[in-house]
Amino acid sequence: MTIDELKNIITDAGCVGAGGAGFPSAVKLAEGADTLVINAAECEPLLYSDYALMKQHLADVAAGAEYVIEATGIRHGYLGVKEHTAHRLGLMDGEAISSHVTVKLLPDVYPMGDEIILIYQALGRIVPPGQLPISVGVIVFNCETLYNICLAVRDRQTVTQKWVTVGGAVRQPFVTVVPIGTPVKDMMQKFGFSVPEDHVMIDGGPAMGPIINPDTAVITKTTKALLILPTTIPAITSKLAVNRTVNTHATANCCQCRLCTDMCPRALIGYPLEPHKIVRNAKSMFEEYPEQFIESAVCCGCGICELTACCQQISPRRVYQQVKEILAKKRLRYQHKGEIKVDPEREYRMLPSERFKQRIGVAKYDTGVPEMRFEAYSPTRILLPLRQHVGTPAQPMVHVGDYVTAGQLVAEATGLISANIHTSISGRVQDVTSSHIVIAV
Ligand code: SF4
Ligand code: SF4
Repeated sequence: MTIDELKNIITDAGCVGAGGAGFPSAVKLAEGADTLVINAAECEPLLYSDYALMKQHLADVAAGAEYVIEATGIRHGYLGVKEHTAHRLGLMDGEAISSHVTVKLLPDVYPMGDEIILIYQALGRIVPPGQLPISVGVIVFNCETLYNICLAVRDRQTVTQKWVTVGGAVRQPFVTVVPIGTPVKDMMQKFGFSVPEDHVMIDGGPAMGPIINPDTAVITKTTKALLILPTTIPAITSKLAVNRTVNTHATANCCQCRLCTDMCPRALIGYPLEPHKIVRNAKSMFEEYPEQFIESAVCCGCGICELTACCQQISPRRVYQQVKEILAKKRLRYQHKGEIKVDPEREYRMLPSERFKQRIGVAKYDTGVPEMRFEAYSPTRILLPLRQHVGTPAQPMVHVGDYVTAGQLVAEATGLISANIHTSISGRVQDVTSSHIVIAV
């Protein structure tokens, strides 16, 4: 299969980064790569979706990797997986899982799923700040993305299902597979969980995932987890603070100890981040002169600076986030000049996941491998957002009243970076707007 043939198949199937980023998968395929890294690091605490998928379908993940390797001419692939996950899966470092893919064990530190950190840890290569992994000859795909690529190539299946962990303050955490577009409320009824008072629901990991409204949210191609967590733990209190309070607190209370910079995982591999300096400018400087803080663009938002390093609950991450939004609006991009030097003390400053879990207040919710609940489930109504990916929204191809069958294309990719969307149930189209399509049985 040629690279263009593979691109066409996965574009038709609507494959996007299933790890949370939602980058259209075909856009990542490029000539010139020599290595594929499968991101199965399961970056944040409480997430088990990748583990569950690999437990059931590791051979299909490897088959998806082989399709990519064959089409791109890549020489070798690595399954990047943390030691404890590999142990549970019965995998050993260096073990072959297919003709061109071997296991690469990763230490259990946070944020190992950040692809820049993953590439450095697995291969010793540093992606220059502001550039993509292909600049160092690497393509990274999440393991669920490769599973979807396998289904697209081998079975001509479109992307309509999502592997989701439900965890946190629930009676029994579990992993399940649900149709994309399922209303979260519907899922809560079906699987019997709720959001108690003084708790919130997070889409994704506890540190990086946003708070969502369970009454209106739906499962999308990038939903990795639904976590129910109390509003009193550090992981959540930091999300609830408004920018003005974050900025005032930062400028008034920072003692410039620079621990946030010393622990920043990207600074440790030589990225030009100095969070202790950005907090000095948290009041207004960056609004007037965002170009002076352009290195903010390379912060991955992991939150170590705020949730672990700072003893004063100051959030350099939130300040960087505000600058990033301004830079994006002004279309200002960071371009790196000069050498990149890894901190010689990096190995000793990496943050063990166990410690991170304790610091952010979620350790008590990690009770080990959750239940696997793969019972057949199909909602009677779905809502498909037209933007479940990075890039331009898909364009609806159906009208109110049309009958559609499960797997059918209902919205088409537009532009260079976009993705097709398919219905996960058979039924009649009830609503089509510029932001979503509703289908009911
Ligand atoms: S969130 Fe903080 S620790 Fe993480 S990359 Fe950004 S500055 Fe560094
Ligand atoms: S760790 Fe906190 S107090 Fe220390 S420099 Fe960073 S923001 Fe300031």
